[in-house]
Amino acid sequence: MFDEFIEENKNEMISTISSLIKYPSVSDESKAIDGAPFGIDCKNVLDKTLSIAEEMGFKVNNLDGYCGYIEFGEGEELVGIIGHLDVVPANIDDGWETPPFEPVIKDGKLYGRGSIDDKGPVIASLYAMKAVMETAKVSKRVRLILGLNEEKDWKCINHYKKCEEHPIISFSPDASFPAIYAEKGIMSISLKHRFELHDAKILSFDTKQNAMNVVPKYCELKIEAESELELSDYKDSLSNSDIKVEKDGNIYTIKSYGIAGHAAFLQKGINAITNLIKYILENFKVNYFDQEEYRYLQKLYNLGLFEIESPEFLSREDISSPTEFKEDSFIKDESGILTSNIAQIEYDEDGFLIIKTNLRIPVTFPLDDILEKYRSISLIFPNITVEAFGKQEPLYVRKDDPLVENLVNIYNLKVARKDEPIAIGGGTYARAFPNSISYGAVFPWEQDLCHQVNEYADIESLVLASKIYAEAIYNLAK
Ligand SMILES: [Zn+2]
Repeated sequence: MFDEFIEENKNEMISTISSLIKYPSVSDESKAIDGAPFGIDCKNVLDKTLSIAEEMGFKVNNLDGYCGYIEFGEGEELVGIIGHLDVVPANIDDGWETPPFEPVIKDGKLYGRGSIDDKGPVIASLYAMKAVMETAKVSKRVRLILGLNEEKDWKCINHYKKCEEHPIISFSPDASFPAIYAEKGIMSISLKHRFELHDAKILSFDTKQNAMNVVPKYCELKIEAESELELSDYKDSLSNSDIKVEKDGNIYTIKSYGIAGHAAFLQKGINAITNLIKYILENFKVNYFDQEEYRYLQKLYNLGLFEIESPEFLSREDISSPTEFKEDSFIKDESGILTSNIAQIEYDEDGFLIIKTNLRIPVTFPLDDILEKYRSISLIFPNITVEAFGKQEPLYVRKDDPLVENLVNIYNLKVARKDEPIAIGGGTYARAFPNSISYGAVFPWEQDLCHQVNEYADIESLVLASKIYAEAIYNLAK
């Protein structure tokens, strides 16, 4: 009964999404102004969404510009749908075929930053709510919660949790169908240690403020040489290296080019930092300061720190002696293997090298155990500083939990398949509340373009997702 409503309103739904794509709503606290803690673009996209929803007949509320919500229904209990309106940065120069913040429809696809992560799925949910509100009776309230800092520090949803009612059950349309029952733990780690090159003075390392959850597509090292250095461009398709060297007097800038990608799907990207590190190790004599700190970078490399899957030292019993290679020594369980995204590298004026990595940790491995392993690098480098930040505990709901079974059944009926719920490395809003899972909107047969260039949402898929959401909302709120 909801399908008809959604079919009739699908053009309006797509034009609503298009109108929201126009806001370059990258969450940025450094641009905070009164009533807009994440910058004016985030404030504007929230205001716009709430005013559209209000016109559609919903109750709306703006929580001090951190977060907003859209609600209908009656009753004591609250069903939640948790999405976000902020987006990751996008620049036409990154390889976009059309301007990222100008919605373009081509071959049945809606192109633009946020089309699939997460503005499209949010509005598909809004129209699903409208379909239920217009055509059925519910005994609970249904609330669409809209964050503005999801891609950064979740200050939006944390603000919500502090000042608003928590849903008793919820889903988040911010990942994939059929449903996600396990999300790996997330933790970032920074390693700080003195470092210098023997043949040149390091002026800077720069990753252009790459976000921790993105594979860095660019990294440059600027050095001042005492004498002429023999450095040349290096391109190798096997190791995916693409290095260019620019010389200006005795200043050399070594630029490493990779491919951006989401930290939860590292294999799709090419890490520009790792390639630059390899280049340094092959082309420079790395200096030593005292015996213990001899060849810092080389040793980190040998420990496996730059490996993207289950870095080798994490499986060592004794950090200083390599493990025998065994399949079962990997940090891995049913939710997948531990992955590490070297996301940022900096060099401060006191000569310290800071390397930051973003880890996706299988659900059965405690975050603190993994942190301990990183801390144990101090057995080799006593002066190293190891710090953890951005910790998010894993989410794990049993596959046969009623919420999972319910939502997966609704999906399977609609698409006539027999898909099983999945585990992922991404961290979605589902883990913000108990009794919550991620549910769509990317279908298993589709490419997931979130955080990538030329992001798009297939229009018919969004319509199908909206129909599935309507059934799910009704099922949870009836
Ligand atoms: Zn998202």
